Amino acid sequence: MTELLSGPALDAELDRLAVVPRLLIALDFDGTLAPEVDDPAAARALPAARAALLALHALPDTIVALVSGRALESLAAVGEAPDDLPLIGSHGLELRFDATDVRPAVDARDAARVAALRSRLEPIVARVEGAWIEQKPAGLAVHSRLVDDTVAAAALADDVRAAATDGDDALTVRAGKNVVEFAVRDATKGDGLRALAERFAPDAVLFAGDDVTDEDALAVLSRRDLGIKVGSAETVARARVADPAAMAVALERVLDTRRALSGNTR
Ligand SMILES: [Mg+2]
Repeated sequence: MTELLSGPALDAELDRLAVVPRLLIALDFDGTLAPEVDDPAAARALPAARAALLALHALPDTIVALVSGRALESLAAVGEAPDDLPLIGSHGLELRFDATDVRPAVDARDAARVAALRSRLEPIVARVEGAWIEQKPAGLAVHSRLVDDTVAAAALADDVRAAATDGDDALTVRAGKNVVEFAVRDATKGDGLRALAERFAPDAVLFAGDDVTDEDALAVLSRRDLGIKVGSAETVARARVADPAAMAVALERVLDTRRALSGNTR
């Protein structure tokens, strides 16, 4: 395993980034700013992390954005972010550049595809005790965890897959444990980060995340950017911090350096 930047070497990189003319700081939320909790609705950023990101957001030429797998609505709720702070939800499917520029996961045509899909699957799911449909921003998921009859659960997965793709062969299908997901559109956090970079044209990007899906965003960074992995998992990031508390310290360092620069030159 290659040595990732940490300690003084990471501080030096944070200082380099902090002084670029236009800086995009894009951050995962759960596990990166907010400690993991059992109830997703109860997750909140650490006070130090929240204070640092709000202060960075207030600086000129500094864009702070949250990039999450959560649906946009959920991210806005737990993130308690100002309306003009950009949010990327549903792993890059939903974009909110500011309060007046919100791109939903699906357009009217896609929404009609999801509605048609739901009407094809509902009668099949209704026949199986314990099965249920979860509505997603760009599709839906059929859950069978509560189906006691394992034969019925296996048949259900086959039946919904056949009925779904029979009416719409462009659907993305993902089979998980006790769940089959259907989506009319697909995206990654890498797509979300690219959209932010196109919109805000930064000179450098700081991205931090803790989970497997954050690797998609870390992978689109270039040499001028800095990717930070939060936690001990394998990563393509160049730097690592231990936990959200350490991430807050890194953000405070960027803030202090950038605020000093801003005060001196503007
Ligand atoms: Mg996370």
